[in-house]
Amino acid sequence: LRRNPGETEFHQAVREVLESIGPVLGKHPEYAESKVIERICEPERQIIFRVPWEDDNGEVHINRGFRVEFNSALGPYKGGLRFHPSVYLGIVKFLGFEQIFKNSLTGLPIGGAKGGADFDPKGKSEREIMRFCQSFMTELYRHLGEHTDVPAGDTGVGQREIGFLFGQYKRITNRYESGVITGKGLVYGGAQVRTEATGYGCAFFVEEMLRARGTSFDGKRVVVSGAGNVAIYTIEKVQQLGGRVVACSDSSGYVVDEKGIDLDLLKQVKEVERARIEVYAKRRGGDAIFIPGRSVWEVPCEVAMPSATQNEITGRDAERLVRNGCIAVGEGANMPTTPEGIRIFQEAGVAFGPGKAANAGGVATSALEMQQNASRDSWSFEFSEQRLRDIMRDIHSRCLATAEEYGMPGNYVAGANIDGFKRVADAMLALGLI
Ligand code: NDP
Repeated sequence: LRRNPGETEFHQAVREVLESIGPVLGKHPEYAESKVIERICEPERQIIFRVPWEDDNGEVHINRGFRVEFNSALGPYKGGLRFHPSVYLGIVKFLGFEQIFKNSLTGLPIGGAKGGADFDPKGKSEREIMRFCQSFMTELYRHLGEHTDVPAGDTGVGQREIGFLFGQYKRITNRYESGVITGKGLVYGGAQVRTEATGYGCAFFVEEMLRARGTSFDGKRVVVSGAGNVAIYTIEKVQQLGGRVVACSDSSGYVVDEKGIDLDLLKQVKEVERARIEVYAKRRGGDAIFIPGRSVWEVPCEVAMPSATQNEITGRDAERLVRNGCIAVGEGANMPTTPEGIRIFQEAGVAFGPGKAANAGGVATSALEMQQNASRDSWSFEFSEQRLRDIMRDIHSRCLATAEEYGMPGNYVAGANIDGFKRVADAMLALGLI
């Protein structure tokens, strides 16, 4: 705490992992002897930089850019970029720290990193977004490389922004280095299913949790928070698996649509028009209602899939969800449930899939994009989706088996933290004091 003052989200993320791995340290004294914990909590490198850019009226703005290269024991640094006004070092470090264990859990050769800027894309023109991305990459490019550090998207950074970032990287370096960034458009080296991967992967993970309890999505009432990349493709896959998604949200409020969310309309409003969620309710007519300024977690559901932001499910929300009959939670977002919320879910016997495991499908498919770029190949949608499904099933079964092995059956949080930690820790020991 003294070393990293004020970084509350980072403290929260570290505490959760350290609380889980006590039993591992008991079995493996070599981790403590070589100070693996202390090393893993300290990023290998942190970069903070100025991002100056000009708006359409010629006014100059200065934002702050970040890249925290946390751990490269398993492979090149890998993790998304977030553009949101709330971004500061504590947020980037929490995301980067979680990314180490998530990437390890996928079983693929990728280290952990995260980055972004306190830039607010809302209300900006496309030309302003492009100028910002170009200025951001003009500093960041020197730290990147397909064998060094490979960013991707996150909140506020979708395919459009990845295109601008990659274009500027290519221009500055004079290298068509496809594997330097993932989440690219299909016409210039992107991979099938990457856009859908985090949401689809989360739905597959929850499908496995439900199956382990002898049930399925079929006919279940589901609430998804957010209406961005993760939320939209979570809704799409849940609907394909037979679930009925009755509500989603953005930072202005939520919509309830008892007939089930109309996905084509949602995509039109959010992906094409980039409008507020209220517009969805207006267009849908009598069937949907917009509730401004309130939490979507007041809508009763059997499955909750938080896909917006950190700490969006508080202890109070968790209590209400349990009271309303929620039996499973799959975290599409990173750390969307507070520690108190997690405790309430676990004590109530709710199947709780933490983000590190449940949303790992995005980065796993990014690693598949890197594989395709390295071999100058491109795989079909069906093949890529099957790979994603297999990876999510494997993560699910390893979380369960590890939790069982360490005497905490059904505890996916412990399973994910222990399994993710061990692989990284073993690699760090093998590589010497680095
Ligand atoms: P997007 O920017 O595409 O969408 C974010 C959505 O969440 C928007 O609807 C946004 O509403 C809403 N939201 C953001 N902040 C808040 C807030 N403070 N309160 C209420 N709603 C909010 O981001 P993504 O879908 O890519 O990411 C969502 C989450 O998933 C993040 O936690 C991210 O780290 C995580 N994640 C994303 C991955 C990916 O592949 N994209 C991979 C793994 C995890 P509004 O537009 O009003 O701000």
